[in-house]
Amino acid sequence: MPELPEVETVCRTLNQLVAGKTITEVTVSLPRIIRRPSEPVEFAGALAGQTIRSVERRGKFIRIVMDDLILVSHLRMEGRYGVYPSDEPVETHTHVIFHFTDGTELRYKDVRQFGTMDLFTRGEEWVMPPLNKLGLEPLGEAFTLQSLRETLSKRTTKLKPLLLDQAYIVGLGNIYVDEALFQAGLHPERTADTLKAAEWSKLYDAIRDTLGRAVEAGGSSIKSYVNGQGEMGMFQHSLLAYGRGGEPCQTCGTTIEKFVVGGRGTHICPKCQPKPRNASAQKAGRQERPKGSSPKIH
Ligand SMILES: [Zn+2]
Repeated sequence: MPELPEVETVCRTLNQLVAGKTITEVTVSLPRIIRRPSEPVEFAGALAGQTIRSVERRGKFIRIVMDDLILVSHLRMEGRYGVYPSDEPVETHTHVIFHFTDGTELRYKDVRQFGTMDLFTRGEEWVMPPLNKLGLEPLGEAFTLQSLRETLSKRTTKLKPLLLDQAYIVGLGNIYVDEALFQAGLHPERTADTLKAAEWSKLYDAIRDTLGRAVEAGGSSIKSYVNGQGEMGMFQHSLLAYGRGGEPCQTCGTTIEKFVVGGRGTHICPKCQPKPRNASAQKAGRQERPKGSSPKIH
């Protein structure tokens, strides 16, 4: 699934490719991609004649801003946009085509068919699902150390599922939560209410840094996306923890471990990200030693 940096790259690239283009008509061949309005005919009818002003991102959603309308699109697992000349053969699994007055087309292809599109009048999108309940934008100006602490510091939830919850912070998926926690030196099973001031600061810096670097890497690869078929999608970053189970930690050399937290595959360095005390006691199947007693030595 694309994460925030990939979606940011898709939005920047799309903005370069389609801003200023005017839609003549829209072909919908898989109606269930369109959630709003419920009738694809209504969807296509509303879009005809609209000029695209910009393509922006909110969380992992793409916002296509037009004269009077906003198209909110989520790629889910494998959704992809590409811009093609209209005489180029349409690939299979292309479900929505936006035809432009200049003879080009924006095509939406989605092999898994999980992607969604919602059409709103401008402004309406902020007060309705799916954008109305989204949390802090981690690359936005409102995301400060203070807003991060205010949002999360009283929660007794483990850091991993908490950071994945889009109601608090948007756009952090499995990959970048693992990367940010690794960089901050925090175990994913720590609960938010146990973090000290210095740890909040490290977590804040790590979130901004990991996402910022990934967006930069994506930005620098925009050219190669525009070339060829003009198709955009995911790209690989240099990741330090995610997907590196069994490899040595690049900081200390300890083997990166993979395990499951909240149902999600999770990667940590057991030395750089020490386990919370309670969790280690539970795992060893023993109670913590009562105060004052001394360990028995055999
Ligand atoms: Zn390490």
